[in-house]
Amino acid sequence: MISVALVYPELLGTYGDGGNALALQHRARLRGIDLLVTPVRHSEPLPDAQLFIIGGGEDGPQRLATDELRRAGLAERVADGAHVLAVCAGLQILGKSFAVAGDASYDGLGLVDAVTVRGSERRVGDIVTRVGNRMLVGFENHGGETRLGDVAPLGLVSKGFGNDGRTDGFVSGRIRATYLHGPVLAQNPWWCDEILVDLVGHELEPVVSVADALYTARCAALG
Ligand code: GLN
Repeated sequence: MISVALVYPELLGTYGDGGNALALQHRARLRGIDLLVTPVRHSEPLPDAQLFIIGGGEDGPQRLATDELRRAGLAERVADGAHVLAVCAGLQILGKSFAVAGDASYDGLGLVDAVTVRGSERRVGDIVTRVGNRMLVGFENHGGETRLGDVAPLGLVSKGFGNDGRTDGFVSGRIRATYLHGPVLAQNPWWCDEILVDLVGHELEPVVSVADALYTARCAALG
């Protein structure tokens, strides 16, 4: 049984990133693997999950979620070996600080050497991130721009903006982060499977689903 915690959907559910948990569950089941998704509301303790999924949200809920995750001890869970998938606001929360309305800066969790500042314009639209020789497709909608310090980006942006117009997201140990909504794991089955492999600890048999056909069509349209 794989355990996945969906972090604060009432605060960080604006962009539908909770679908990442459903995509993981679906592709696990296609292989006969049970995957339990536990939604966690803010003010509740974090469950003992293998993966924490943190989605996108608006500035106010993002600040509240940051304080709650600090208090609930996400950093300790990560230090103990938990994986994290973070999208947009989730990405910004993991860094050292992020900008909020009025150009004020808010302390993040500091798990990753990244700082998010207020961008010159809001970035809204299709985005393609190249990860090695593969593509991640999705959409973005954010006002923040992220400057990476001593951390590797997830990939290079070939369409859209991502962190800074050049790179998207970051990978640090068991933490993966991206600006892509979609939900990104529903739109990009290969990345969903990569995360599943990490969680189960062995290779998985390939599956062909409608999501794979849609992914191919999106790559052709956006690539
Ligand atoms: N509030 C953040 C921003 O605008 C994150 C937005 C989001 O999660 N899509 O940059």
